[in-house]
Amino acid sequence: LAAEAVLYTASDQIILLTPENVDSVLVNSSAAVVVEFYASWCGHCIAFSPVYKKLARNIKEWKPAVDLAAIDCAAEANRKVCMSYSIRGYPTIKFFPAYSKPESTGESITGFPRDVQGLRHTIIDKLENHKEPGPPACPPLEPVSQAEVDSFFETNNVQYLAMIFEEANSFIGREVILDLLQFENIAVRRVLNTEESLVTKLGVTEFPSCYLYYPGNNFTRLIVNIEARTFYSFALQGLPGVVRSGKTPPVPPDVITNNTKEPWRPFSSSRVYMADLESTLHYSLRVEVAAHTVIKGEKLISLKKYIAVLAKHFPGRTMVMNLLTSANSWLQNQTGEEISYEAFQEILDNSGQSPDTALPEAETWVGCQGSQPHFRRYPCGVWTLFHVLTVQALTTRDTDPKEVLSAMRNYIHSFFGCRYCAEHFENMARESVEEVNTVSSAVLWLWSRHNRVNNRLAGALSEDPNFPKIQWPSPEMCSACHTVTQNGDHKWNDNQVLLYLQSYFFFDKILSDYLE
Ligand code: FAD
Repeated sequence: LAAEAVLYTASDQIILLTPENVDSVLVNSSAAVVVEFYASWCGHCIAFSPVYKKLARNIKEWKPAVDLAAIDCAAEANRKVCMSYSIRGYPTIKFFPAYSKPESTGESITGFPRDVQGLRHTIIDKLENHKEPGPPACPPLEPVSQAEVDSFFETNNVQYLAMIFEEANSFIGREVILDLLQFENIAVRRVLNTEESLVTKLGVTEFPSCYLYYPGNNFTRLIVNIEARTFYSFALQGLPGVVRSGKTPPVPPDVITNNTKEPWRPFSSSRVYMADLESTLHYSLRVEVAAHTVIKGEKLISLKKYIAVLAKHFPGRTMVMNLLTSANSWLQNQTGEEISYEAFQEILDNSGQSPDTALPEAETWVGCQGSQPHFRRYPCGVWTLFHVLTVQALTTRDTDPKEVLSAMRNYIHSFFGCRYCAEHFENMARESVEEVNTVSSAVLWLWSRHNRVNNRLAGALSEDPNFPKIQWPSPEMCSACHTVTQNGDHKWNDNQVLLYLQSYFFFDKILSDYLE
């Protein structure tokens, strides 16, 4: 039996090693693998686990070159594996180079740093000193010379060469090189400030700074808010023509036409549409909940909480609010152990025919339209609905910090059709929703967990190439939301993010286009 992971879950983007998968992960892999051997009872391991999880999110784009794994040596089932790697203390971190042999026990990283930046730098050192053959996906990390730049486009069929000019001890260039390794049509290299001919040729005076070099000897400086890793990486990943490997290139919004049967509805990608929110309610209440002919126990509680929160905070049209209010009073009056979906449906469809009380049956996706029928739509609507509700609770100065999140958590757990998503969401909620103690921290919690999901899904098959998953809002959407720590790592300015969310999801700014 595979031992249950205690400190890490499948949502953490860390490979959970077991006796069954250990060989296939560590032996002869085309990527290097960093493994944390831990014991779930060890205090240092517990304290280190949030750092390791953060590292996994932080270097997610590097996976084809270097991946992260962990194994709980306290689990009986894993004991033999840990013994075979000579593990005696916890946590132990080992680096397994690409193409490791079955008998390899990895390279111990003694006295490893306990912070994300330090670990990242250690990993880069390991990759740079990797014996041949290195991971094939790992681009060259050493600095380039003028001669290599001059002949670059003769041997490389890309649209851009991005050059990070920096001092020798800076890691930014190598970090950006790895951040871009899953993107095509661009190559990234680092140039040292001592490479005088290039520095002079481009007139570089600031280190670090980033320049784009094009075929034909043309160059321009990359404009970013802050000269730091994430700002470079984000800007480079979004350049026209740069595309994630295996994805079709995005097309400009006004040119996205139809791969769906419906007409394409032009929309602003920075606005919230009531049509999406109503479509979400329709799908959730008439399709998703309808999958349960009898609703009882935990599910009945979830439905009651969900409808109560909607009746209280949904910023809807009068007819929709009347419907939600009547559904809420009907549900709260149901004191039995169960209800039938049919009875609930009668209320939803307003079978008593009260005037001006209705939930439209249409699914009219607008801001949540996808370029293919299987992209976006309902799950996009669910996120949008819950962001609107958390912001609405803050706007109306509600005092219960967890009411909306708890209703969302219950709804997702009981009804959300994507069970895999529900499990991931529950893992995140179990881990940290207790920290929420104010209505504004509820708004921020949902935003940051949504970004974790975006981080995990960036590049996944479910990603619409026209709507790439980003850490939201981007620097273009809200430059004040982004800042850096003293050591140059990206940091969100939570106060600015909160202001941005309050304005973005504010009820009075929701657009009514395309409503019936
Ligand atoms: P979405 O991620 O759905 O976002 C919708 C809109 O919200 C975006 O267009 C943007 O305007 C805005 N937005 C984006 N990020 C943020 C943010 N951080 N804060 C506020 N607003 C933001 N899919 C899986 O494949 N695996 C999963 O495990 C998974 N888990 C999910 C869990 C939940 C609770 C939900 C609701 C969905 C989950 N999904 C999962 C679906 C996935 O997250 C997306 O909803 C889906 O892929 C559609 O993506 P989208 O491009 O429309 O953007």
